[in-house]
Amino acid sequence: MEYVLETESLCKRYGKTRVLQDICLKIPKGSIYGLVGKNGAGKTTLMRIITGLQAPTSGTYTLSGVKNTDRKITTVRRRMGALVETPGLYKNLSAYDNIKLQYINLGLTSYDTIPDLLKLVNLEDAGKKHAGKFSLGMRQRLGVAIAMCGNPDILVLDEPINGLDPQGIIEMREMLLNINKERSTTILISSHILDELSRLATDYAFIDNGRILQTLSAEDLLRKTTKAARLTVSDTKAMCRVLDTMGLRYEVSSDGTIEVFGDINITRTVHEADKENVEIFKVLENDETLEAYFMNLVGNGGEQS
Ligand code: ATP
Repeated sequence: MEYVLETESLCKRYGKTRVLQDICLKIPKGSIYGLVGKNGAGKTTLMRIITGLQAPTSGTYTLSGVKNTDRKITTVRRRMGALVETPGLYKNLSAYDNIKLQYINLGLTSYDTIPDLLKLVNLEDAGKKHAGKFSLGMRQRLGVAIAMCGNPDILVLDEPINGLDPQGIIEMREMLLNINKERSTTILISSHILDELSRLATDYAFIDNGRILQTLSAEDLLRKTTKAARLTVSDTKAMCRVLDTMGLRYEVSSDGTIEVFGDINITRTVHEADKENVEIFKVLENDETLEAYFMNLVGNGGEQS
């Protein structure tokens, strides 16, 4: 797998306070990578380090194959767009002119692609309205447009959903999915609301107290949190045949134990198992929600992946 960004044992200390400890992450190319953690977990600090706004106390990171200690990092960093904390907008300028200023900053001389960018973030109808009069959602989307100037390979967004109303959240989500799909931009996005990220992220890292507790793919998270029944059976192979004929999705977790996903009709399952001479000793139901999963992970101090 190709990784756009890799961090190796990144640490950040302020005096004696450790804010980040041993952060090792690999962000796959083309992914939407969700960094999930409560307030104060260390998300902003990590993003500030990756975007070059702050230096790590120790550890390194590699951006598109170039280490942060390499002189070439400043060139490679131009392939990164970021919105960390609130977007720095010129309130008396329109969305078009705010973007144009960023083009000038980046040394871009043609402005032909600005209308495409305005369309991408759904601000093509904002016209001459000054950014100071924009709603929070519009400001955030303009911030993303500015981060997208120069068509970066990776977009780093710190809590872009924070404070948005439900409509604003939907617009932000659809826009990010669109950017990822249409421009193949890898996105690293942080949030303290797992439920929101779950609608767009392909991969996750859970962070708490400056440590990564767990990394996992969206599929693995779904498997861990969807409604499931754990069956303890006398004959695993025969039970798999039964579940196959019933068209149920399952996973063998150990010999004698099978996780069955989705809603299952217990009476029918027992009946079908009986036909194959399989005994079901135990049925355990699990329907953990995403937030419960997150709170469990954080509450337990987490499991290292
Ligand atoms: P939030 O969502 O609240 O911004 P976060 O996950 O982004 O949380 P950070 O802002 O990275 O967390 O902060 C992590 C910890 O580092 C916090 O305990 C914070 O108080 C501390 N911290 C951040 N900046 C400094 C600083 N300049 N000096 C001392 N401590 C700091």
